[in-house]
Amino acid sequence: MHLKSLEIVGFKSFARKATLNFTSPISGIVGPNGSGKSNVAEAFRFVLGEQSIKSLRGKKGEDLIFNGGAANVASATTSGRANRASVKVVFDNSTRMLSVDFDEVTLERVVHRDSSNEYFINGSLVRLKDIVELLSSAHIGASGHHIISQGEADRILNANIRERREMIEDALGLKMYQYKKLESERKLEKTEENMKSVESLRREIAPHIKFLKKQVEKVEKVEEMKRLLVTLYREYLSAEDAYIRIEKARIAEERLAPANEMAKLDADLSAAKTILAESKRADAQSMEIITLERALALAREEKDRISRELGKIEGAIALTERSIVKEKEKQSREDSKTVYLRDVEAIVNRIFTIDSLEEIRNICREFVASHRSGDALHTAARLEFDKELRELGEKKSGFENELRAVSDRATRAHEEYTQLRVKIEREQDTNREAERNVFTIISRQNEIRTVLTRLKNEEDKVLLEEQAFRRELEDARMIAGREAIDYVVVVERGLVPARGVQEERRRTIEKIKFRIEDSGAGNTTDIMKEYREAEERDAFLAREIIDLETSKASLVALIADLNNRLDVEFKAGISKINAQFQYFFNLMFGGGAASLSVIREKKRKRKSDTDLSLIDAVPDEMDTGDDMVEEGPEGIDINVSLPRKKVKGLMMLSGGERALTSIALLFAISQVNPPPFIILDETDAALDEANSKKYGDMIVSLSNYSQLILITHNRETMSRAGVIYGVTIGADGASKLLSINFDEAVKVAK
Ligand code: ATP
Repeated sequence: MHLKSLEIVGFKSFARKATLNFTSPISGIVGPNGSGKSNVAEAFRFVLGEQSIKSLRGKKGEDLIFNGGAANVASATTSGRANRASVKVVFDNSTRMLSVDFDEVTLERVVHRDSSNEYFINGSLVRLKDIVELLSSAHIGASGHHIISQGEADRILNANIRERREMIEDALGLKMYQYKKLESERKLEKTEENMKSVESLRREIAPHIKFLKKQVEKVEKVEEMKRLLVTLYREYLSAEDAYIRIEKARIAEERLAPANEMAKLDADLSAAKTILAESKRADAQSMEIITLERALALAREEKDRISRELGKIEGAIALTERSIVKEKEKQSREDSKTVYLRDVEAIVNRIFTIDSLEEIRNICREFVASHRSGDALHTAARLEFDKELRELGEKKSGFENELRAVSDRATRAHEEYTQLRVKIEREQDTNREAERNVFTIISRQNEIRTVLTRLKNEEDKVLLEEQAFRRELEDARMIAGREAIDYVVVVERGLVPARGVQEERRRTIEKIKFRIEDSGAGNTTDIMKEYREAEERDAFLAREIIDLETSKASLVALIADLNNRLDVEFKAGISKINAQFQYFFNLMFGGGAASLSVIREKKRKRKSDTDLSLIDAVPDEMDTGDDMVEEGPEGIDINVSLPRKKVKGLMMLSGGERALTSIALLFAISQVNPPPFIILDETDAALDEANSKKYGDMIVSLSNYSQLILITHNRETMSRAGVIYGVTIGADGASKLLSINFDEAVKVAK
């Protein structure tokens, strides 16, 4: 691969299009001061992607665009301000050093006044990154180790150890690895960030998942309990239903007989009561019988009294009759017959009243006859006795009548009494039976009532149980769903479990119901769905972490591999460079020693505090053994010792010696990993004639590996160039370019 041409339009002082064809391994660019030679070197940097405008000697992108000549702004026709600057470089890529499948590769960069840039590869718009990547594959980056600007030859000597390391890495073509490493490190960082954020996401959702899991477990438990509840409910409800039906039927059946009997007893009772109602009348009869009894007693008393009176009278009569008999006996004795004055007076009184003598004689004869005959009682006495007997007889018959009347009365009363008594006794019998009946009925009724009451209680109980059962049905439907009440009833007495069993079942059901209610589980499907989603998300995140870990591991491995390669190739490169460095140094100084060494920056901890302060670069080999020293990143140190001089180190070199050392190093680096081209802008400015010669020789040997573009005022250097371009600047401030021969060049350079 080699550089074919460079085309500059509107860049810096190159107002018009200028083309340089690099047909020789060594091209020289000559011209007076300020003609625009360095602008050519900068055009290279620019087109290769330099991003530091400052290193292109500008402040902003606009400064890179031809700004017009200050001298004759008005007259200039072709040197007016350009709107854009463009630089195009053409490479021969037949060796495919640039990793694109073209024999010729054209890179172009355009900058506009608004500082915007455009990049093209073979005319296609690309990104800066594409340019950088393409070039790094051919060891030509923007870092510019192969473009040594004016006064920058000893840049490598002035740089710090880390900058040196970067320059050398670039020159060794390790930038590619560095890019990859950086990219991998960025990716690793990103991966780690992603991991962290995924992990924190997982951590964030973990409690929620845990919560949901618990909920789901709860829900599952509740579901299980509900299934159990359905089974239990079916068992329980079916049995309860059967029980209630059977109980109701049984009670109805059991009630039938007693109810009928009761009805009959009610009828009997009212009949008996009707009978008993009549017993009041019996009371009246009792009164009557008492009256009768009293009347009867009175009649008896009366009878007794009359009988006694009668007896008395009878006695008096008997006494009188005995007196009469005595009188008669006395009068039967003639001489001693006594005539009672009373009888005589009576006869007298009688005779006085009678006028008829006959009658008076009769009366007198009768009087005497009667007193003469035995039974002929003294008339007067007889009269007396008769009168007495008559009175007693009257009295007696009076009493006898009275007695007869009382007896009749008593007999009647007795009859009446007897009749009534019989009647009452008969009625009493009936009442007693009725009473007995009432008693029997009532006691039977009481018995039956006990039974009916028991049945009623049982019925009430069943009705309550039925109500409870209806509520339980509703409950079951609400809590365990329709299935719970979808049971089969087997109404068969023998199959109905004991109440105790049902009670136990109910308790179990209540316990489970309580547990379900107590679980506080929400909507099942929602929770399940949320949990599934959360879990899926978590699983996705877990997979992502695994993916990230895998890519992290491969990135870590890649970085380790790159580090290893960098380390190995870097150290190998350094030792190769050292050999060349020693060679060129020797060539320049005719002896002495020069080498690069890999060192680490050492940082020392101050005893007073924990601040780290950079002390200085200490060679890697020097192990101070100081605990306070910490290792920094690796860098490159340059060790030189001049022949015949005691002093060592870069600081002790003169300007010329510095220039020679840096040239030796640059050449050494270039030899180890030759870039396709090297641009040296007045690197030879500080050399005396003898050293110019040596420089010229080195250039020739270097041109075997890399194409050289030399900007120079040096005659010796010019003499080594195959092609020379002369740059001049016109009155319009625009640089002009022309191909010239050596003699012309010598003239132009002056
Ligand atoms: P020397 O031999 O002294 O190093 P040189 O040939 O390298 O000089 P350069 O430094 O390349 O010269 O050119 C500088 C010239 O380019 C200056 O005259 C400067 O005015 C001019 N120049 C720089 N930028 C612009 C620009 N944007 N527009 C016009 N001219 C510019």
